[in-house]
Amino acid sequence: MTQTTPLMAQFLAEKAKHPDALLFFRMGDFYELFFEDAQAAARALDIALTKRGQHQGQDIPMCGVPAHAADSYLSKLIRAGFKVAVCEQMEDPALAKKRGAKSIVHRSVIRVVTPGTITEDVLLEARAANRLAGVAPGRTGEDWAIAWADISTGEFAVHSCPAACVAEELAALAPRELIAGEKDCVKDELRESGAALGLLPTPVHRAKLDAKSSEARLRELFDIASTQAFGDFSAVELGALALVAGYVSFCQAGGPPRLQPPRRASASGWLAIDPATRASLEIDRTLKGARAGALLHCVDRTISAAGARLLADRLARPLADTAAINKRLDAVAYFVDGRAQREAVRGHLQGAADLTRAVTRLALRRGGPRDLSAVAGALQAAAQAAAALKSENGLPEELADANEALNSANRPELAALCVDLTRALGAALPVHARDGGFIIPGFDPSLDETRALRDDARKVVAALQARYAEETQLPFKVKHNNVLGYHLELPIKHLDAMLRPPLSEKFIHRQTLPGAARFSTPELADLDRRIAHAGDEALAREMALFEGFVGRILGLESELRAAAAALAALDVHAALAEWAVEQNACRPQIDDSLIFEAKGARHPVVEQAVNAQSERFSPNDCLLDAAGAEGKRLLFITGPNMAGKSTFLRQNALLIVLAQAGAFVPAQSFRAGFADRLFSRVGAADELARGRSTFMAEMVETAAILRQSGQRAFVILDEIGRGTATFDGLAIAWSAAEHLHDNNKCRALFATHYHELTRLDGSLPKAGNLSFRAKEWRGNLVFLHEAAAGPADRSYGIEVARRAGLPQSAVTRARQILAMLEAHGTGGGPASIDSLPLFAAAPIAPALTGFEESQPDPGLAEVAEMLEAANPDALSPRDALDLVYRLRDALKAR
Ligand code: ADP
Ligand code: MG
Repeated sequence: MTQTTPLMAQFLAEKAKHPDALLFFRMGDFYELFFEDAQAAARALDIALTKRGQHQGQDIPMCGVPAHAADSYLSKLIRAGFKVAVCEQMEDPALAKKRGAKSIVHRSVIRVVTPGTITEDVLLEARAANRLAGVAPGRTGEDWAIAWADISTGEFAVHSCPAACVAEELAALAPRELIAGEKDCVKDELRESGAALGLLPTPVHRAKLDAKSSEARLRELFDIASTQAFGDFSAVELGALALVAGYVSFCQAGGPPRLQPPRRASASGWLAIDPATRASLEIDRTLKGARAGALLHCVDRTISAAGARLLADRLARPLADTAAINKRLDAVAYFVDGRAQREAVRGHLQGAADLTRAVTRLALRRGGPRDLSAVAGALQAAAQAAAALKSENGLPEELADANEALNSANRPELAALCVDLTRALGAALPVHARDGGFIIPGFDPSLDETRALRDDARKVVAALQARYAEETQLPFKVKHNNVLGYHLELPIKHLDAMLRPPLSEKFIHRQTLPGAARFSTPELADLDRRIAHAGDEALAREMALFEGFVGRILGLESELRAAAAALAALDVHAALAEWAVEQNACRPQIDDSLIFEAKGARHPVVEQAVNAQSERFSPNDCLLDAAGAEGKRLLFITGPNMAGKSTFLRQNALLIVLAQAGAFVPAQSFRAGFADRLFSRVGAADELARGRSTFMAEMVETAAILRQSGQRAFVILDEIGRGTATFDGLAIAWSAAEHLHDNNKCRALFATHYHELTRLDGSLPKAGNLSFRAKEWRGNLVFLHEAAAGPADRSYGIEVARRAGLPQSAVTRARQILAMLEAHGTGGGPASIDSLPLFAAAPIAPALTGFEESQPDPGLAEVAEMLEAANPDALSPRDALDLVYRLRDALKAR
C-alpha cells in the first residue's frame, strides 16, 4: 500500500465536505478532477481520462480542464445535471514553499455551482428565470411553504399553500433546482412535484426548519436584528426561507446570500393551473419539452431578456382579479393605440442589456467590465424610454408607475454614473476586470501615465534589440513569456558563438530549446522589471477604477433595480401590443360574470402551423354561461377525427390564460367572467406521448376536476374515458358529464367520441352540443374546421381509416358493421343506458340478421361457412395452411 500524499489528503478532505458535487481541484492553470469525479466528468465532457499516482495501491483516475476556459466546461456539466464544487488555491505557491519544501498550497472550496445558483452569463439562459425553490412541509393539516430565490436577479420570496397545491405552485415557478430537508425529500407531494418538473429534490442535510432556528439562521445570514424587518412570516415560511437562504450561502462557501429582502407572494388572486393542465396546454413548453411550439414562444415579442423573463412569469401565473387584469390590459392598449410610442420604446430597449443580472453579479463580486457597460446601456435606454412615454391624456397606471421608476433613473447621481461609464469604457471589453484594458485612454490621467511608461519601455526594448543585432550581426528577436519575461531568441546554430567570449560576457544564457536558444542581458532584465512594474501598476489603477464604479453602482442598487423592473414591464406591454397588432388580436373584456363569449377566436399556435402550410385557420365562436337562465354551461363537442375538436378546446382555454395574464387575445371579440381555476384533461389514448397513458392516471386527474372545480372554474375534457373498455369508458364519461353539470356547475367543454353523450342535452338543461363537420368532396374528406350547433351526424372514422390505408376488405366490412349498429339506434327520446345499442340486452343475433338482409354477399357467406365448419383443434399445420388458401380463393372469386 502506498501512502496518501499530502495533496491527496487535502483533496479527500475537501471532497468529503461535498460528496454530491464534482470537485474542481485547482492545480496551477488547471482544475483537476480525481477518482469517480474524473470518470464522470471525462464521460460528460468527452475529454481524456488519464491517471496520476496511486491511492491505496490503485491508479488514481484524473482529468482536467484549463482554468481560463472553465466556464464552458462548467456549463456543460451543470446542464448534464451535475453540481460542481470549485476548490481554489488560496495563497501564492511561493508562500507555501517558504513553509518548507514539502508543504502544499492551501486550498478550499470557494463556491458550489448548482443549476439553481448560477450567475454567469454563459451559464444562464438569458430569457428564462433561474430559480431555486425550497419546500418546507407544515404539520399535518397545516399549509406548506415554498420559498424561492433567483440568485441571478436577487429575487427572494415565499408563499404558503395547502399540501395538495404544492405541485401546482412549483409548476408555476418552474425552478431549476428543488431542495428540502433530508426527511422531507421522500414525501409524496415533493417527489411527485419534482417528477412533474423533471427534478430530483436535493436533500439538505441537518436542515432545522423550526421557527427559532430558522429565525436565527436568517438573522445571521442577512445580518439583521430581527426577521420582523422583513415582515410577518409564519413558522413554516421562515423555515422555507431559511432553507433557501442557507443553501445559497452554502453554495457561496458560507458567504452572505446577497438576496433581496424576502417578500411574501400573494397566495390568492391567481388563476390556478395544475401541472397536468399546464403541460397539456403547452403554455411554456410543448409536451415533448420544446420551447418552440409552445404558447409563450408563439406570442413572445419582447426585446430584452428581462422582458422575456417577466412575460414568461405572467403567462405561467395569470391573474384572477378583474381590476389587476384590466390594469395590465390598459397598458397593452396604450401601446396598441400608440404606435409611435411602441416603436420608440422598443427601439430604445434594443440597447438595454440585462441590468438586473449585471447589478446582481457586481454585488456578488462576480461581475466584470461588461456588467459596467450593461449598466451604462440600460441607464441610457431608461432615460430614452421615459422620454418616449409622453401622453396627453395621462398614462395608464402600470405605465405611470414604470415611468416614475425610470424618471428616477434621471436623478443626478444616476445620470452622472451613466456619463462617466460611457466616457470610461472601451468598445471591446474583457470578461474579467483582471484582464485589464477596458478603460479607454483619456479617461484617467494617472492610468494614461503608467501606460505610457509601460509602452515607452517597450519601445526602448525594441531599440535595444536593433542595437544588439547591429553590434553582433546576429538575428536577435525579442520575445516575452511569463517565466522568462522579456528575452532574446536566436536560432540554435548561433549557440556556440554565444557561449564563448566575447559574447558570453554580455549575454546571459537562459534556456535552450530544440531549435532556439534564449538569452538575456542586465539591461534587458532591468527593462523587463520596469515594464512588468508599469503593467502591474496600470492594471492596479484599472482595478481601482473598476471598484470605484462598482461602489457607485451598489450605492444606487435599489434605484437601478427599480429601473430594470420598469424597463422589463415596458418591454412586456409593448411586446404584447406588437403581437396584438401583428396578429389582429382584440382586447378581452374581463369581468365578474360567469359568461364566456368568444367570437371568431383562433388558436395562436395551431394557426401558425396551419399558415405555414399555406392554409387558412378557421376562427370559431364559443358561447357559455355558467349562471344565466338561457346559455349553456356544458358543451359536448363531437365530430370526426382531425376535425379540430382538440384545437377548439385548447383555443378557448388559452383565451383565458392570455386574457388573465393581461394580454390581448386572438379573436374578433372576447368577453368572459374571470376563471379561478383552469383544468385541461386529455384522454389516455391521446397522451401516449407523455409515457403515462394508464387509465389510472386519467381517472386520478378526472377525479381532481370533479372534486376541485367550483362554479368559477373553466374545464376542458378531451376524449376522457378512452383508456378503458367501451362500456366502462362511456359510463365514466357520462357520469363525469352529469357531475360537471349538476354539481360543479362550471363552464366546461367536453370533446367526446361517444355519440351517446350528445343526447344528454335532453336531460341536462344547461348542456348543449357543438360539432365539427366534414364534407365529402370528389371522393375525399374535407374538414371544415367550423364549429356548428348540434351533434355530429356521423363518424367519419371509417373514411379516415380508408385514407390511412386500411385494406379495402376491412373498410368494406367496417361499413357493414356501422350500418348494422346504426340500424339499431334508439330513435330519439330521453337517453338512458338501456336504450343504447351497445347496452341493449340482445343486440348480437338481430344485428347479424340485419347484416344478412342488407348486404347479401355470397362470397363472404361461403367463407363464413368454411370457417364455421372448421375445427381448429383438429387441424394439422398442413390442413390449416390449406384452409387459408381455400379461404383466400373463395374471397378472390367473389
Ligand atoms: P381532433 O381533435 O378533432 O381530432 P385536432 O384539433 O387535433 O382534431 O385538429 C387536427 C388538425 O386540424 C390540426 O392539427 C390542424 O392542422 C387542423 N385544424 C384544427 N382546427 C383548425 C381550424 N380551426 N382551422 C384550420 N385548421 C384546423
Ligand atoms: Mg383530438
